[in-house]
Amino acid sequence: MKLHIGIDDTDSIKGGCTTYIAALLVDKFSQLGIEFTDYPNIIRLNPNIPFKTRGNAAVALRVQIADSAYEYVQEAVLRTVEDNCRLQDERTDPAIVLVQGSPTGRIKRLSREALTDIVPPQRAIRALKHSNALAVCYGSALGLVGAVSAVGQGLNGDYTFELVAYREPRNRGKPRLVDRASVVRMDGMTTPETFNNYDSDNRRVLIAPHGPDPVLLGVRGETPDVVVRAFRLIRLREPVERWVIFRTNHGTDAHLPNTMLNQGIELDRPVILSGRVFERPERIAGGHVFFKLKHKNSIVQCAAFEPTGRFKEVVAGLVPGDEVMVFGGVKQNDRVHPPTVNLEKLIIRRLSDDIAIENPKCSRCGKHMKSVGEGQGFRCVRCKLGNSYQPKQVLMKTRVIRPGLYLPDKRAQRHLTKPLSRYGFEKRRWSKEPPTGTWHSP
Ligand SMILES: [Zn+2]
Repeated sequence: MKLHIGIDDTDSIKGGCTTYIAALLVDKFSQLGIEFTDYPNIIRLNPNIPFKTRGNAAVALRVQIADSAYEYVQEAVLRTVEDNCRLQDERTDPAIVLVQGSPTGRIKRLSREALTDIVPPQRAIRALKHSNALAVCYGSALGLVGAVSAVGQGLNGDYTFELVAYREPRNRGKPRLVDRASVVRMDGMTTPETFNNYDSDNRRVLIAPHGPDPVLLGVRGETPDVVVRAFRLIRLREPVERWVIFRTNHGTDAHLPNTMLNQGIELDRPVILSGRVFERPERIAGGHVFFKLKHKNSIVQCAAFEPTGRFKEVVAGLVPGDEVMVFGGVKQNDRVHPPTVNLEKLIIRRLSDDIAIENPKCSRCGKHMKSVGEGQGFRCVRCKLGNSYQPKQVLMKTRVIRPGLYLPDKRAQRHLTKPLSRYGFEKRRWSKEPPTGTWHSP
């Protein structure tokens, strides 16, 4: 029988282990000679969901087994989750779904919705109707949404690969000993076939996380071959316990389908809006840049945060009238501002003229003069020279920014965000071939 196994984000704040559980199961299944019908999948869902409702990263394993092996496989999955996730931690509510045969249309629909929406767990349970499925929850049922969505998300359109290497238990929690220079070199040798290894603008290595989780590093790329090649180019000063190649929706913009354009604004959902800049952007404390967008008949607040780096400077260079398309997530950032589009991507379609109206300059010292009063002309505050005749000056400023597509600095990009280097390399379909070559550690 075909069997699809979905496991929701079993991570707690203290350390992730969802993909690690998948890696353990890959090894267990391989030793038993179980046939994989796909690489294990990492599925990212709506990234704007508040943490407490969970379910934004899940894994799926897809195998072909003898009917007689089902009991054993089920037991192995449950035991591996129970032994390896932090059931005792608050807000860890892992969920497992085993679906026999092919995922139904209901399951596929749910997984599409979970990319752009907030799906209640009851809907996930209902989606399993008419499936030969087993659902297991530890704690609340919140994890079911991710587990069912992972099963239903076949990654049949665009997709990428990620090789994830794991640390030995004794090293977890300690600094990761990944040689920086070798990462920079690997990035130079494998880009654009790999992506988001290194943020040269901020001189930051992006392949290694920082938490206490078992992940040592993850290399993202277009093919299984290139992520293995890139991995071998990295010098490590600590042993690798195991590694696995996942097929994922990382870097595909799966959460920003074109159909979302101008579909309205809802809290904690992604959004794509076209419109014109309404007011000159303002820089607020902390270096964040806000501006107001006129979309249809409403005014929408948009934000580019400090870590987005050069991106926020482009946003700061917008002026009223500029035609733009904004991509992002709608969040209630604080109590004073209305729901705001936190920008993930910006297309500047057309620049308008940047016109400034200034008081005339003093003919003696060159300083801008002050208005004396309505219709009474200007006076220089420095040399007291008056001038009743000169009109205000209209200045056309040179625009610094150019039309085009802009993304935040790499360090501030989301897992799902399609990096600039991937444009033009999108895949159209998955040929449904089982994994070949060496795709996990022996
Ligand atoms: Zn003067």
